[in-house]
Amino acid sequence: MSNWISESLRKIEADSQRSADTHLFKLSIPRLKHVDIYLKDESTHPTGSLKHRLARSLFLYALCNGKLTDTTTIIEASSGSTAVSEAYFAQMIGLPFIAVMPRSTAQRKIDEIALYSGKCHFVDKATDMHGAAVKLAAETGGYFMDQFKYAERATDWRGNNNIAESIFAQMKLEPHPIPHSIVMSAGTGGTSATLGRYIRYQGHDTQLVVVDPENSVFYDGYTRKDPDLTIQASSRIEGIGRPRVEKSFQPDVIDKMMQVPDLASVATIHWLERLIGRKAGASTGTNLWGALQLAEQLMRQKQDASIVTLLCDSGTRYLDTYYNPDWVAENLGDITPYSDQLNRWC
Ligand SMILES: *Cc1c(COP(=O)(O)O)cnc(C)c1O
Repeated sequence: MSNWISESLRKIEADSQRSADTHLFKLSIPRLKHVDIYLKDESTHPTGSLKHRLARSLFLYALCNGKLTDTTTIIEASSGSTAVSEAYFAQMIGLPFIAVMPRSTAQRKIDEIALYSGKCHFVDKATDMHGAAVKLAAETGGYFMDQFKYAERATDWRGNNNIAESIFAQMKLEPHPIPHSIVMSAGTGGTSATLGRYIRYQGHDTQLVVVDPENSVFYDGYTRKDPDLTIQASSRIEGIGRPRVEKSFQPDVIDKMMQVPDLASVATIHWLERLIGRKAGASTGTNLWGALQLAEQLMRQKQDASIVTLLCDSGTRYLDTYYNPDWVAENLGDITPYSDQLNRWC
C-alpha cells in the first residue's frame, strides 16, 4: 500500500478520533404518557449533518478498495449535504473535488462547498446529474463516489461505531433501553440500511420504521415490491425522498413504512423549536412526525416504550425556506391544521 493511502487513512481516522459522539436528546413531551421519544442530533458533526458519517465511510471505502491515488479528482452527484461533507474530506487528504449539481442550486450551498475548496459542475436538470458525473469521471480520470449506489455498503453495519451501535449504547441506562421502534427517512437509504442490519445482527426486538415524504417513490416501491418505479416530480423535503428507488435503499431490512405529508414535516420542526429551542431541517420533521404517530398508537395501547429518531441537520441552513412563513405559504401551503394537531402534545 502506498504511503499516501496509509497517511490518508490516518488523517480520516484522526478526524474521527478528535470528534465526540453526537448527543441523544430525550424529549420531554408533557402529554405523552408511557412513551419516551429520543432524537439523535446529527447536526453537530464538523460538516453539519449525518452526511459526515457517509462521506467518511465513502472515502475509507474508496481508499481501501485502491480506487484513489494522490492525484485522483473526486466527483459526486449532489446538490446537498453530501457534497459539503465530501468536499471536507477531499480537502483533508489533498484531492480536488467536483460536485455535479443543477444550475438552480442555492448559492449558499455552492459557498459551503467552496469553503472546503470544492468546485461545482452545473447541469440543467436534476435528472442529468448522474450521467454528467459518470462522464466527468471518465474525462478527468476521476472517481465517482456515487452515494446513491454505495451508501449502503460503505458503512460497517456490524459495528465500528456506526450510528446504530452508538444509539443502542447511549440508550443503555434509559427506562426502556431497547427501543420499540427506530424511525428514519431515506435519501440514499444508507442510514436505514445500517440501522436495519444492525438490529437484525444484534437480535434486538426493535422495528425499523422508514418514513417517506411526498413526491418520492420509496413508499410505493416498498409496498408494491417494485424496484423499478419512477416519478417525474422531486421531493420538497431536502435530503430525503427520491424519484427512483435508489440502489442503496434496502427494503428487506425495513419492518414498516409510513407516508408523511410535507406540511406535517414543516409544522413539526416549528413545534420542535418551541419544545427544545432548536431549529432542525425538514427531514427531521418527517422523522419526528412519524415517531409521534407511533407514540400515539402505543399510548392508546398503554404500552410503555421508547422510540428513537434522528435530527439530521440544523434548521439554520433553511432560514430562507422552511423557516420563512412566506416561502412556506407559497411553496407548501398552510401548516396550521398540523400545528393544531401537534399542539395537543404540549
Ligand atoms: C441524506 C439525508 C437524509 C437521509 O439519509 P440517508 O442515509 O441518505 O438515507 C436525511 N436528512 C438529511 C438532511 C440528509 O442530508
